[in-house]
Amino acid sequence: ETHHMASSKKEAQNILEVAIVGAGVSGLGMGIQLLKAGETNFKIFDKGHDVGGTWRDNTYPGCGCDVKSSLYSYSFEPWAEWTNSYAKQGEIYKYLRHCATKYGVYPYIQFNTSITGSVFDEQAGLWNITTADGKTIQARNVVTAVGPFSAPKVAEFKGAEKFKGKTVHTAAWDHSVELEGKRVGLIGTGATAVQVGPAIADKVRNLVVFQRTANWIMPRPDRNIEEAEKALNRKTPLNMKMNRLGVYWFNELTAPFLILKYDMFKAQPEKMASSYLARKVKDPELRKKLTPTFKFGCKRVLVSSDWYPTMQKEHVHLETNAIECITEKGIRTADGVEHELDVIIYATGYEVRHTGSPIDAKGIGGASLNEKWKDGSEAYQGISTAGFPNLYFLVGPFTGPGHTSVIAYAEAQIGYVIQAIKLRQKRKLKAISVKPEVEQKFVNTMDFRSEHTVWKSGCASWYLSPNGRNNTLYPGLNAEYRMRIARFNPAEYVLTASNGKTVKPKVTDHISTGLMAIKAA
Ligand code: NAP
Repeated sequence: ETHHMASSKKEAQNILEVAIVGAGVSGLGMGIQLLKAGETNFKIFDKGHDVGGTWRDNTYPGCGCDVKSSLYSYSFEPWAEWTNSYAKQGEIYKYLRHCATKYGVYPYIQFNTSITGSVFDEQAGLWNITTADGKTIQARNVVTAVGPFSAPKVAEFKGAEKFKGKTVHTAAWDHSVELEGKRVGLIGTGATAVQVGPAIADKVRNLVVFQRTANWIMPRPDRNIEEAEKALNRKTPLNMKMNRLGVYWFNELTAPFLILKYDMFKAQPEKMASSYLARKVKDPELRKKLTPTFKFGCKRVLVSSDWYPTMQKEHVHLETNAIECITEKGIRTADGVEHELDVIIYATGYEVRHTGSPIDAKGIGGASLNEKWKDGSEAYQGISTAGFPNLYFLVGPFTGPGHTSVIAYAEAQIGYVIQAIKLRQKRKLKAISVKPEVEQKFVNTMDFRSEHTVWKSGCASWYLSPNGRNNTLYPGLNAEYRMRIARFNPAEYVLTASNGKTVKPKVTDHISTGLMAIKAA
């Protein structure tokens, strides 16, 4: 008996309250907030060797963020050390490590661990999580924080294996590849390409940019942050907060121009971007090549002040003939020209998930999340899905940012998930699972709103799933989304007590989630 009690106590100690998958911006933020909320029984699992996610992995030349750092940072941790208003990868990575250290999250992270699957034990109200090295972890709640940009997309071209030179993908940059004095081909003209191209152009012998689609580009109003301003920020964090609020509301107010498809929101920004192009590029032929043929905002609007100047350099060539194949010597385009190259850079983006689940989860009755999501991922508030209790997604379906910082979404979601976790603990619930009708209503709203967005106005992008549906970006303002999820409403969930019975939320549950929401706001 004593032995049994001792072993079950030991087991209980091994059960995590929360298992978080991913130590990037959202997973790390989740860890920090759990600690702030007094919860220490959690672990973050990450496949890599440090925090930072996409900011750890993307080290290509020129890598940085299109959102100003005053907003691309946690709201609770403004940073006086940014050297530019738009931070580069190295600084963002440093900032995230700083946060992990300052808030004491490192001891809670298990690195070099890939999560392969997770099965919900209905009897015990526990997730059994498996790792690639064959271990099993038990947790009451699972939070996935895997982000959209963790797997590079290598576009497939005929003959790619024949190329005798070096090949590198921006998302897994190989720093041993020599570019100095080399003939370099750059495939792609998205947000990544417009950073890497200008960053390497002056090093290489010549640069051929293979463009399939020209993008809308706005200038980047970047500036250095001088020591005097840093000193002011260190002394007066309020200055940084005000700055952040300014950027936040500017993005919110201009969001309709990026999100909606109607002409009244397209004419002005298209005019601004076209006149920027006309000012920067005088050669009419090159200008035509650089002119987009789809609506502003349909694909991500790029922010760069050096792309157009780079395209006009003597040794840079913008190739708009389609890539036919890759040869031993380089790239052959549809016009029959073989571009001889030493290095080919793939800036072809990421495998953004539209279907299937981020981890192979089996929920109530052994149902598979991959199966449920095979035609598209869906979740209530982008966070929870029926039949998969105590499982939460950060930056999941429908909640990517189209116009502002992803952190603004992740932080709101973290607050919501913590309310759910606290409620489970307080009522000792086995399971909290969103009601299917509640989820469906939300999904219908997202689908309905998406019809009004420019994302579905006819171009191809990583925003849309192969069947043309938007289940990636949030079709609305961040402020509206934050209000929507400020409070976890227990009445929208099926609550299962420890005896397996379904129970109703108590008035006190409503009060406590309400109070937590007020505190978080
Ligand atoms: P992306 O937006 O998906 O762009 C990929 C580029 O490769 C496009 O120009 C695409 O052409 C081209 N491409 C793909 N397959 C091709 C093929 N088979 N043949 C020819 N061209 C091909 O990827 P990304 O530039 O890496 O950016 C992805 C997202 O990451 C961005 O939208 C942004 O959210 C984020 N990001 C942000 C920053 C930043 O903040 N500055 C920087 C990098 C990335 P098509 O347009 O014709 O498909």
